[in-house]
Amino acid sequence: MLIAAPKVPRPPASAIDRAKLALEQRVGASRVITDPNGCATYGEDESEVAAVTPDMVVLAESADHVAATLAVAAEHRIPVTPRAGGTGRTGGAVPVAGGIVLATASLARVKEVNRDDMLVVVEPGVVTGELHALVEREGLFYPPDPNSLEHCMIGGNVAENAGGPRALKYGVTREYVLGLEVALMGGTRLRTGRRTVKGVTGYDMTALFVGSEGTLGVFTEITLRLVSKPAEIATVLALFSDARAAGQAVTDVLRAGLVPRCLELMDARTLGAVRAQGVAIDERAGALLLAEVDGDSALVEAQVARLGETLSGAKGLVALQAAQDAAQRGRLWATRRALSPATKRMAKHKLSEDVVVPRSRIPELLERVDAISAATGVRALTYGHAGDGNLHVNFLWDDDAERPAVDDALHRLMKDTVAVGGTLTGEHGIGVTKAAYLPLEQSSELIAVQQGLKRTFDPHELLNPGKIFPVR
Ligand SMILES: Cc1cc2nc3c(=O)[nH]c(=O)nc-3n(C[C@H](O)[C@H](O)[C@H](O)COP(=O)(O)OP(=O)(O)OC[C@H]3O[C@@H](n4cnc5c(N)ncnc54)[C@H](O)[C@@H]3O)c2cc1C
Repeated sequence: MLIAAPKVPRPPASAIDRAKLALEQRVGASRVITDPNGCATYGEDESEVAAVTPDMVVLAESADHVAATLAVAAEHRIPVTPRAGGTGRTGGAVPVAGGIVLATASLARVKEVNRDDMLVVVEPGVVTGELHALVEREGLFYPPDPNSLEHCMIGGNVAENAGGPRALKYGVTREYVLGLEVALMGGTRLRTGRRTVKGVTGYDMTALFVGSEGTLGVFTEITLRLVSKPAEIATVLALFSDARAAGQAVTDVLRAGLVPRCLELMDARTLGAVRAQGVAIDERAGALLLAEVDGDSALVEAQVARLGETLSGAKGLVALQAAQDAAQRGRLWATRRALSPATKRMAKHKLSEDVVVPRSRIPELLERVDAISAATGVRALTYGHAGDGNLHVNFLWDDDAERPAVDDALHRLMKDTVAVGGTLTGEHGIGVTKAAYLPLEQSSELIAVQQGLKRTFDPHELLNPGKIFPVR
């Protein structure tokens, strides 16, 4: 059984028919899909949220198409769900109220790569991994690297404020968004932000749109800051007897003043899944840390030496290995890359949470996850970006009968995360799957202020309804 979409009323058929005619006139009939089979393809994402077939899909190819769609939708009171790569983990792109899916994948032009000002101007449908390759050919670097980078798109990354393994040193998407062009419900177009390094004119509207999960406006152009491509990268792998020891080693590394670009952790169950994929890992290991540093060659060498010293003295260390060349680096990362397929094979359903706790509380969170698994009987495995306290706790289940226990486990995880000073989501957003838990972290006053903001942009609550805020 999947997670039920919230019950948000669908628009009446008569309004859909009128909107369809208007859209065909304004964006062209070939860009409007109404056939149910064609629409069904746009009804789900990579979360466990049950699919909902929209009434129509608009395949936008320009900012004008986006603005026209939002104008027609506002006029006929039709809900609109923006969509980019469809890799979201919380149901953000699932059109829970039907209506229109506004697909932005074909808005995929790179408008400018500026080496002097170190920025790039793109449309939202540019695939993240393709942007990496493009700017790296120019000696530049766009650090945010969600593990879905071969399929996710910059528009979705900005809407979710996506992160990735490199966030520890470089930060998340928010740190790179300088400016946006946004179309609002009703069709008004805004330009926010700047192209300059500094700039504090007015409210920081760009920051408000970043992470707004498609609920405030639809991005049609994104200006991103770039940095210089690091000259060298080195990877170190450390195996530990257990996850608590690996969690403590994370604190040791950061206390030593090191800032690796990645510091990834895997617990014993995750290692078991990876071993089952045929990746050889020392049988004594009950946890793994993968650290990566970058910079010029002298800096990289010094950081690897310091990492070696710090980790050698860590409690519970089983083995330590540094990659000598790119091929060895590739082999060390094979374990991390095998994770998604490995864990997917373990059960019919996987709920991948992305809680964040203060780094010093990682060992405690890992213990609490074990306790949750024992109390509810739900299989759990944990891995993730331990360097910034962001852990993916995955709950696995096969049978519909297990769903109440999974819900219980999820509720306990959210409560425990908040109890240790953490936050519900570090990269996937709240979407549908975590909306019910928002009041665990935020006061009713804070939620009300955000809902007021939402109504300023979207008075009839038509843009991506049913997301972020609990549905009454
Ligand atoms: C295997 C796998 C690994 C992943 N690893 C990571 C990871 O390491 N880090 C991470 O952060 N996430 C990760 N994710 C989650 C997901 O890839 C990210 O949330 C990503 O940012 C979603 O991008 P997308 O293009 O697929 O967006 P979609 O899923 O299409 O949409 C996501 C949200 O953005 C909104 N949206 C889309 N386009 C626009 C637009 N033009 N304007 C306004 N709103 C818009 C949608 O309405 C929706 O709310 C992973 C997912 C998978 C399946």
